[in-house]
Amino acid sequence: MKPIFFTPGPGQLHPLVKTYTEQAFRENICSISHRSETFRSIYSQTIDALRELMNIPQNFQIFFLGSATEAMERIIQNCVQHNSLHFVNGSFSRRFYDTAVDLKKKASLIEAQYGAGFDFRTVTTDLPVELICITHNETSTGVALPMDEVYSLKKRFPGSLLAVDIVSSAPYIALDYNYVDCAFFSVQKGFGLPAGVGVMIINYSCLEKAQLLQCSNTNIGSYHNFLSLQKQAVNLQTPETPNVLGIYLLGKICEAYLDKGPHIIRFETDEKARLLYDFFIKNKQYQPFVANPKIRSRTVIVADVNGGSIPLIEKLSNHGYLVGAGYGPLKKQHIRIANFPMHTRDDVLKLIETMDI
Ligand SMILES: *Cc1c(COP(=O)(O)O)cnc(C)c1O
Repeated sequence: MKPIFFTPGPGQLHPLVKTYTEQAFRENICSISHRSETFRSIYSQTIDALRELMNIPQNFQIFFLGSATEAMERIIQNCVQHNSLHFVNGSFSRRFYDTAVDLKKKASLIEAQYGAGFDFRTVTTDLPVELICITHNETSTGVALPMDEVYSLKKRFPGSLLAVDIVSSAPYIALDYNYVDCAFFSVQKGFGLPAGVGVMIINYSCLEKAQLLQCSNTNIGSYHNFLSLQKQAVNLQTPETPNVLGIYLLGKICEAYLDKGPHIIRFETDEKARLLYDFFIKNKQYQPFVANPKIRSRTVIVADVNGGSIPLIEKLSNHGYLVGAGYGPLKKQHIRIANFPMHTRDDVLKLIETMDI
């Protein structure tokens, strides 16, 4: 039996990836020049599909990078001369903070315990902050921050840019781009694709900031800075030879999601999340790790397992269900279950049956 990957990325491939990859081979996608008309048409098809699927306004640019981790580095380099502010409640938000520290910025952090969120209304800063960094869905702990509270930051700090990591909540999350300057994700989570493409979405305020930094002699990077990316993007191209197959497949999967309907994807995601949380609440062997129901992620569900998670993970794997262990220090205590569009309701019900011990 083929295993089902409930691991929160990389994980279960979208069932159409094989078909689209075969199609790509028939169309010689991997051999064409990235300066050709064929590539430009692939590029624009993927951008158009992404824009429609994720409701990205025309005044936002979409750039292709190598990964989400790369996006973190590019965003810090291009939006921060001195000060960034980071909300850290798990390993991925910490990575964003560490990136700013590595790049020698004055990074401040507001920390919450793992499994908790933040009280955004009481946030104050001593310094003027150029960039606020948020991880919407903390994949290490299963906390999803309430976006209306995140948007209130933009109202209270209108001079700051706001960057949001949506890696493990896209395409489920519906961002309001009125309150966000920059967002990014990679394709091996909710899009069910092989890893190797990062997508960064930025507005003109971010581009202006990068221009300003460059004029003031700040190093904004060379290979992928916002200005070099923008210069090529207007020609429907990338600075380097990109992952053409990855960009092609992303466009196809976005079209498949559009055919299905983003509202149906959201409805099904909510429904499957409800089944999983209800089970963890009812069964005495488990407990949802995130105590506050309002900030429980719908796309990465984390449960505490009585007596430790390792034997359970092995048992599930013997039944063909691969789930994630806890992250970092919580490795042996938690299971983490991805609830992405590729995971069917049937798969989730069978997983729950197998977890019912
Ligand atoms: C997986 C993940 C990342 C890292 O993505 P890469 O594509 O491996 O760079 C960053 N943030 C979150 C929230 C993630 O889940």
